Amino acid sequence: MKFSRRRFLATAAALGTQLLVGKGVAAQGRTYRRIHCPILMYHYVDYPPEDADAVRMDLTVTPELFSEHLLHLQTFGYTSVTLRQLWDALEKGRKLPPKPVILTFDDGYDDAHQHAFPRLQEMDMVGTFFIIGNFMDQPGYLTWEQALEMKKAGMEIGNHSLTHPDMSKMQPSDQFNEANITADKIKEALGERPEFFCYPLGRYNDMTMNVVKQTGHLAALTTADGTLHFNGNLYRLTRVRVRNTTNPTALEWLINRWI
Ligand SMILES: [Zn+2]
Repeated sequence: MKFSRRRFLATAAALGTQLLVGKGVAAQGRTYRRIHCPILMYHYVDYPPEDADAVRMDLTVTPELFSEHLLHLQTFGYTSVTLRQLWDALEKGRKLPPKPVILTFDDGYDDAHQHAFPRLQEMDMVGTFFIIGNFMDQPGYLTWEQALEMKKAGMEIGNHSLTHPDMSKMQPSDQFNEANITADKIKEALGERPEFFCYPLGRYNDMTMNVVKQTGHLAALTTADGTLHFNGNLYRLTRVRVRNTTNPTALEWLINRWI
């Protein structure tokens, strides 16, 4: 499939945004599926710097606390799955293991390779890491080489835009570039275009959803709160925010409160 900007813009103009997103068409000729599968949202898995402000603290889970989360999930019978497994279950009716849970990591910080990845491997679990195209190989962020190592070990590498802007405020062609250039970079470095997109800052509009779909992504993640997923709403998947105060008991409550 070709992902040309010109073709995208022409199609978007011809059909309008509603049709491309597929609003309201899920029920026509499709099986309706609803699956409970918490998608945990992590940012830093690291020790916060001494001068960390409240936001940075909130976004940081220490490696020890992260290990406690993984141990809790394993002990209580959860199975970590990939976003692709969830998508296959929603779209194709494939079976998921009991108590599925997805671990996602936003922004592609280098602690993902240093702290999260080895702990996931130790527990035989998987994670999905959303990287920012222009930040790769920069200080504090993953290198492409590390991302490739993680992908080869079974981790998913997703698209978190090119520069981490508020895409809902951008022109369609700029939104297209944010999604498409990083998808191209991922293809070049890792061999395949990414299957999943994560909206930077959780901000998106109808055009963002169109752009993400037209650049070949199967689904997209928001920062909205929730654990139930529907096959008619794949470009607005909800997540569970994990904070530095989220102990295992809180985690258990967070992932089960919508059942
Ligand atoms: Zn982000």
